Amino acid sequence: MEVMTANEPAASKDFIREIIDEDLKTGKFDGRVHTRFPPEPNGYLHIGHAKSICLNFGIAKEYKGLCNLRFDDTNPTKESVEYTQTIMEDVKWLGFDWEDRLFYASDYFRQLYEWAVRLIEKSAAYVCDLTAEEIREHRGTLTEPGKESPYRNRSVEENLDLFTRMKDGEFPDGTKTLRAKIDMASPNLNMRDPVMYRILHAEHHRTGDNWCIYPMYDWAHGQSDSVEGITHSICTLEFEDHRPLYDWFLEQLEVHHPQQIEFARLNLSHTIVSKRKLLKLVEDGIVSGWDDPRMPTISGMRRRGYTPQSIRMFCDRVGVAKKDNVIEFAFLEHCVREDLNKRAPRVMGVLRPIRVVIENYPEDKVEEFEAVNNPEDESAGTRMIPFSRELYIERDDFHEDPPKKFYRLAPGREVRLRCGYFIKCESVVHDDSGEVVELRCTYDPETRSGNAPDGRKVKATIHWVSALHAVPVEVRLYETLFTEANPQNESGGKTFVDYLNPNSLEVLPDCRVEPSLTDAQPGERYQFERLGYFCVDTKDSSPGKPVFNRTVTLRDDWARLQKKKQ
Ligand code: ATP
Ligand code: MG
Repeated sequence: MEVMTANEPAASKDFIREIIDEDLKTGKFDGRVHTRFPPEPNGYLHIGHAKSICLNFGIAKEYKGLCNLRFDDTNPTKESVEYTQTIMEDVKWLGFDWEDRLFYASDYFRQLYEWAVRLIEKSAAYVCDLTAEEIREHRGTLTEPGKESPYRNRSVEENLDLFTRMKDGEFPDGTKTLRAKIDMASPNLNMRDPVMYRILHAEHHRTGDNWCIYPMYDWAHGQSDSVEGITHSICTLEFEDHRPLYDWFLEQLEVHHPQQIEFARLNLSHTIVSKRKLLKLVEDGIVSGWDDPRMPTISGMRRRGYTPQSIRMFCDRVGVAKKDNVIEFAFLEHCVREDLNKRAPRVMGVLRPIRVVIENYPEDKVEEFEAVNNPEDESAGTRMIPFSRELYIERDDFHEDPPKKFYRLAPGREVRLRCGYFIKCESVVHDDSGEVVELRCTYDPETRSGNAPDGRKVKATIHWVSALHAVPVEVRLYETLFTEANPQNESGGKTFVDYLNPNSLEVLPDCRVEPSLTDAQPGERYQFERLGYFCVDTKDSSPGKPVFNRTVTLRDDWARLQKKKQ
């Protein structure tokens, strides 16, 4: 797979929109555009699904068409109501609306059954007694044709009788299947008498125990598209080889025939977009759940602080490809940063506090500085920030023995406090182990405006909070979930879990933020000046005790990379 960087907004139309334009010109579907997003409710949606949602709902909107939400719920053992609910929540949160077009493939079980009977009557399907294992053995390989099943030439009557009895529950799981009668010598393995139904005595989350035969994906999918009058059935590349089968079923049935179009899945570096693998991380307790802020799930990203706008922007800019590729995680971060820059109010918070005492500032004096809430948005207004004799600054902003190019606070050195005075470090207090525990500073009362009347310059401005007023909070910092750009790389017998990043989560239990954040509400997003964008955690915060997740730092690795490339 080729690693590439997403392009800025596509200048020309992608190939899917070109196909639709052509269909509209030729009147192929009477000028209709009707798409669908068909998730299987066997896990939470991830960023790859977001891509598909934006594409399907986006195309419907652009062409003044419709897009359905359809649960592809044909596999009762892996699916649940919880999953259908979170999927609906996520699609809505992304900003899309299926209106009254919520469907379930399970609603079509009766129709599919009747259509299967029609195929049997046409001698286009038969009941087969081979086991799954035997079917595999008969299938042949890419270079060798398959072998016909000994049950392939059963009479229509016998097939109808057996299929009815399969449906009525006479046979145990795995003893019989219904198969399409196509061509065991076809170069396309999907056409070698694919299984349409299997027997599974399992409770379905919607149809209960009404059915003990369940349709396979290929049989259910195209027919569901047809029932709903879908025009363009957009799916990912792995279904390209299934298209002949998709078409075959619809031709045999002589029903409405949508156009299947395949595009490349979205892959993102340093993470994984496979529900099966994400489920393993959840089940093994490697993450706290599907909505762990490190997860590439929509619910995880929401909790992390991503906006729906930023995810939509990302999906649009990534575009639609015909060839598999990997998008850099840094590009996703670039998008969320760009969006949050416009909407997130600025505040000050200190992640790793060190105490500063301003020796020449009166003990009980408190001043207030006016601070701009968002330089990108005048309507966001200003707020007041208290200043007093004792402050906290970031431990990293002080160096006792400053290396070259470190311009922030050091013994004898002066810096500017954001929104306020110049302070100068006069002495350093250590504890018994030699660790710096406090800085003794002085301030220059003439520099309240942020500048010195005598024109002297400082080389750095640092953020701070008033110790007396600051609110103690917990902050969670994140890195990518995997250290490897491609955690799917299974060379050397490794699997994706071998590439987990041990530093993907860092909990800082004792941070201090300015008092305006005391009542920050779950889900609210802020820029902590110089540190990044943060979002109040929706699960672990309590009134007066917000917990902050860092959504993204301010450092734009993607932009730097682009510059370097130029
Ligand atoms: P997973 O491999 O994670 O289980 P899936 O394709 O099996 O994904 P579905 O619930 O069947 O999951 O997917 C619903 C729709 O989303 C399908 O049309 C599928 O093609 C699309 N989709 C899934 N993953 C991606 C992806 N990474 N990029 C683009 N579209 C995707
Ligand atoms: Mg699937």
